Amino acid sequence: MYQDTIAAISTPLGEGGIGIVRLSGPDAIAIAGKVFTRRLSNRRLVYGHIIEPETGEVVDEVLVAYMEAPHTYTREDIVEINCHGGPLPLQRILGLVLRYGARMANPGEFTLRAFLNGRIDLAQAESVLDVVRAKTAASLRVAVNGLGGKLSHSLKQVRSGLMEVLAYFTARIDFPEDEVEEQEIIPTLEKARQMLKELISSAEAGVVYRQGVRTAIVGRTNVGKSSLLNCLLRQSRAIVTPIPGTTRDTLEEVVNLKGVPFVLVDTAGIVQSKDLVEALGVERSRKAIEQADFILLVIDTSEPLKDADREIIHLVSGKEALVVANKSDLPRQAELDGLPWPQISTSALTGDGIGELEQKMVDTVLGGKVFTSDALLVSNPRHKACLERAQSHLEQALSSIEAHMPDDFVTIDLTAALNALGEITGETVTEELLETIFSNFCVGK
Ligand code: GDP
Repeated sequence: MYQDTIAAISTPLGEGGIGIVRLSGPDAIAIAGKVFTRRLSNRRLVYGHIIEPETGEVVDEVLVAYMEAPHTYTREDIVEINCHGGPLPLQRILGLVLRYGARMANPGEFTLRAFLNGRIDLAQAESVLDVVRAKTAASLRVAVNGLGGKLSHSLKQVRSGLMEVLAYFTARIDFPEDEVEEQEIIPTLEKARQMLKELISSAEAGVVYRQGVRTAIVGRTNVGKSSLLNCLLRQSRAIVTPIPGTTRDTLEEVVNLKGVPFVLVDTAGIVQSKDLVEALGVERSRKAIEQADFILLVIDTSEPLKDADREIIHLVSGKEALVVANKSDLPRQAELDGLPWPQISTSALTGDGIGELEQKMVDTVLGGKVFTSDALLVSNPRHKACLERAQSHLEQALSSIEAHMPDDFVTIDLTAALNALGEITGETVTEELLETIFSNFCVGK
């Protein structure tokens, strides 16, 4: 347990009607007592005022909750002061508790304490961030599943299997062979291998839900890119959040298509002057294509393919893409045979085919898999990398066993596999890694 008491504003500054200043640590209640007019009582919400103790000036009218350790978020005493949400009351109250003995919390420090005090493991702590940042309801579900410790639970099973086999091999090294009873180890390792394989294969979709799919809509001028974008935005019926693009001249919008967040990079939204040289358009498309995970290649099928189309088709080659054969309401003139991507016929004018396009986009990025809402999806690239490391050590151990290599060849790889898994949940973790992970949190979480 920590000796110091930390404090932070746990709600966004300057937004919303109420805000919360949170304290955690052994002095939380004593510090709150100095600035709050009423007595606190465990798990009661108490109405009163925050005052400036030296002058008696009332700072704000508040509700204060006190939660006694150890059944709290951090496993320490926690006090939450619910005040008005403006930046001034929040900052003044924070200033007061800092003056009376609290220390300003570092980013993610409340959650770090929850981890270090053993309430949650590292994978769960990381899910907290994903819950906060979830882009769609489905992303949120994936994150909440992680928060509940589902991944940790599966990993425990894999680890215990590996541990058992490691103990067996260690015993064989330490004791004469005839004293250690022969044990069937291959089925145990096979089972662990299978579980790892399933977890890793879920990761592709998990990462899609967590981070969204960066999608570029490309095509020459006038094929219907803007119209298509508008169709998708309207269709998604989501709260659309425009966020400034990474480059000055693009706009990014997140659309929610069947739970999958697609970050649409709108190159069509760029102001196009009449005499804009075609080369510039191609240059922009090239950039957008490079930075995207996924491409919607729009072609106007009411006209024969032009050189500009061919140029962009060339740029897309090798990328994951769908061909949007647009303007299907007009007589078809374009010959699209031989393109290496699936094609969907649409009319951005009438809305025909947009539903099919959406379904195809979702199927493509999820690899055609369907997930139930309680499916365990590994959604964090760090976890995925650890799983892959564990898998490769496990494969190595299995081939050493098969090749009748000396036992310590096996134990070295099993130990490495266990360590890699331990990095996910935080059993084997360096200070440096913790720092990196928690620095991504905002202050107050
Ligand atoms: P962009 O330059 O690729 O962004 O193309 P726009 O979305 O601005 O569309 C160019 C023109 O084609 C506009 O006049 C649109 O109304 C029209 N258009 C777009 N999609 C369709 C379609 O599916 N059918 C028809 N008939 N016209 C379309």
